[in-house]
Amino acid sequence: MSDRRYVIPQPPQAALAIAGSSELFPVRRIWCVGRNYEEHIKEMGHDVRDPPFFFSKPADAIVPDGGTSPYPSLTKDMHHEVELVVALKSGGRNIPVAKALDCVWGYGVGIDLTRRDLQIASRDMKRPWEVGKAFDASAPCGPLQPASKTGHPKKGRIALKCNGKVRQDGDLTQMIWNVPEIINKLSEMVALEAGDIILTGTPSGVAATVAGDKLECEVEGVGSLTVTIGQPAK
Ligand code: MN
Repeated sequence: MSDRRYVIPQPPQAALAIAGSSELFPVRRIWCVGRNYEEHIKEMGHDVRDPPFFFSKPADAIVPDGGTSPYPSLTKDMHHEVELVVALKSGGRNIPVAKALDCVWGYGVGIDLTRRDLQIASRDMKRPWEVGKAFDASAPCGPLQPASKTGHPKKGRIALKCNGKVRQDGDLTQMIWNVPEIINKLSEMVALEAGDIILTGTPSGVAATVAGDKLECEVEGVGSLTVTIGQPAK
């Protein structure tokens, strides 16, 4: 139902598919964790003792499984970062670690596409990261599986292949901050709500991806995601 008070048509609700179902998970916000796997922190040249931090992407940056992310403007170095996606059915402020998993509806596989050259330039100029992280079609996400089916995964392979060749190959056990700790920390920064999703950081092996690449991702026991990098949007 459209609300006639809106002076322009209401934008569509961003949503994620549910595996094996025609149902949808409505997405409110996309949060991302920076630097949560030790080997990736080292490959980016940072100290692993630094605490993690959070940034966000717009909800409409989602690209569904089987979709295409057009190669974005302004960059010459877009990277893939495969990540475990956590989808929240409830939220709150200052959620205790012991209660955090009660907020989780389910899990999926996503890619935090990154304009690495612009991210690093903005970092070096002490500017915000949006230009590097929060661009159109920067958040491909596969279908969610309910936690009632998968349980809460604590281990399992997390991997990304580019054109059939393995580029990222890690394990959820390598996460420095686990899912309950991430929810706890993020809920100290903002009030979390149902519909928020969290991309939980990437293992090592991030690399450039170009138009025509086929990216195939999996998180063991959670699901998979295939996305194609397309020609630049006109
Ligand atoms: Mn990331």
